[in-house]
Amino acid sequence: MRIGIGYDLHRLVERRPLILGGVKIDYAKGLAGHSDADALVHAVIDALLGAAALGNIGSHFPDMDERYEDVDSLVLLDETVRLIREAGYEIGNVDANIIAQAPRLGPHLDAMRDILARRMGISAGQVSVKAKTNEEVGPEGRGEAISTQAVALLECARLDAEK
Ligand code: MG
Repeated sequence: MRIGIGYDLHRLVERRPLILGGVKIDYAKGLAGHSDADALVHAVIDALLGAAALGNIGSHFPDMDERYEDVDSLVLLDETVRLIREAGYEIGNVDANIIAQAPRLGPHLDAMRDILARRMGISAGQVSVKAKTNEEVGPEGRGEAISTQAVALLECARLDAEK
C-alpha cells in the first residue's frame, strides 16, 4: 500500500462560479483559476499522483497549456485515475478536507463524495469529504480563499506496480 497527500488553495473572487468536488454551489463568489478552479478535485489529484510518485497536477496538466483553460477538473481526475491504473495501482480510499469560512458546505458533501467516487471508479464509502471553517482567521477565515487537503491510499494491483 502507498499513501499520498494533496493540498490546494484558490482565491475567492467575484464573477466566478464556485465548484467543489464537481458540485456547483450557489454563492456570491467563486474560485479564481485557469481551469474551473475546483480546489477539492485538485487536492485529490495531487494525493493520487503523490501516492504513486507520479509527479503533481502541474507536471501533467500545466497552467500555461491553453487546453486546460476553464477545463472541467473532473476530466483531469479521469486522466489521473487512468495513469494510476496504468502504473498498476487501485484506489483504496480518499479522505479530504475543505477549509472555507463560507458558504456552508455540509449539505453538498454527499454529492461531492458520489461524484468523486464515480469518477474514480470506487464506491462512495471509499471517499470522505469533510468541511470546516477557519475560526475567522487566516485567508480562509477571512473569506479570501478556500483551501483543501486530501490523502489517498493506493493498493498495488500488480506485482510490478512498486518500483
Ligand atoms: Mg488548484
